[in-house]
Amino acid sequence: MAAPQVAFIGLGVMGAGMAANLARKGFPLAVFNRTPEKATPVVALGATLVGSAAEAARGADVVFLCLPATEDVAAVLFGEGGIAVVMNPGAVVIDTSTIDPVATRELAARLAAQSIAMLDSPVSGGQKGAADGTLSCMVGGPADVLAQVRPCLEAIATTIVHIGDAGAGQVAKACNQICVAANMLGASEAVALALSMGVDPRRVREALLGGAAKSTVLERHALRLIERDFKPGFRAALMEKDLRIAVEAMNRTLVYAPVSAGIHQLLKALLQTGRADLDWGAVGALIQELSGIAPETGTKG
Ligand code: NAD
Repeated sequence: MAAPQVAFIGLGVMGAGMAANLARKGFPLAVFNRTPEKATPVVALGATLVGSAAEAARGADVVFLCLPATEDVAAVLFGEGGIAVVMNPGAVVIDTSTIDPVATRELAARLAAQSIAMLDSPVSGGQKGAADGTLSCMVGGPADVLAQVRPCLEAIATTIVHIGDAGAGQVAKACNQICVAANMLGASEAVALALSMGVDPRRVREALLGGAAKSTVLERHALRLIERDFKPGFRAALMEKDLRIAVEAMNRTLVYAPVSAGIHQLLKALLQTGRADLDWGAVGALIQELSGIAPETGTKG
């Protein structure tokens, strides 16, 4: 069977890596991004850059989206110049963005009314996972549609788990972000404690990585915090959005969630103090500030 015609919309930190891996696997690929320069590397791998989302999606069998937020996905699907009107019946939208699970159900139902299938497939693994093709995909939507497009997902991911119906993938992603953020808050408090006691956090991290506290957050994010490297990565604005999605979902379902609510407040504070475009690991710097630790010296004043 001929390889499906694939479109990819949204070539940011994550989308650029995913699209590159689809091109490397030989899928015929049309790409669109608002900032066309970001397409240069994937075009060098054989993709075709087009001038609009609709142009990319027209005639495609599978359309990947990797966009910042719920309103962006809704706009690209159904807004002015949206892709839903040009897509063929039987085509599949794979949304790798992290967005609201309830809105996802509504978007999937609207597409289904046009005989277009939608999978929510938010991802975990960060920029490195996207570049290496080793993401974890949390998939919501019909199992037969997942089976049909699995070769496309295998180009970007090494873990592909069917979670359940439409929106279930986004629920899993919210669960992922709760776990990662809680882990980061703990690591941030640990680094602040070490600094405040005049102990080298690098040594602390090295020791902790050999024991029960070992985690991806301690490996990657805590190191960046210690080195005060806040180049994204994952922008604070996006992590605030992810925790907002999680907190809103838990408010709807009356889940008791003091940890997520607290982290969300810290992320909001990052945004309100001009740090929306820093890596979200800057939350650790905020904790140091709130602890009276001088950013220049890492010592308690
Ligand atoms: P990003 O801001 O780097 O990229 C988003 C891209 O979408 C940008 O290039 C932007 O130009 C483009 N875009 C926005 N609106 C558009 C539109 N209407 N039409 C076409 N292009 C449009 O964000 P990112 O870090 O790549 O994240 C994308 C999604 O993936 C988010 O939902 C995020 O929460 C999720 N995610 C990110 C990471 C990470 O580590 N960065 C990890 C997992 C999931």
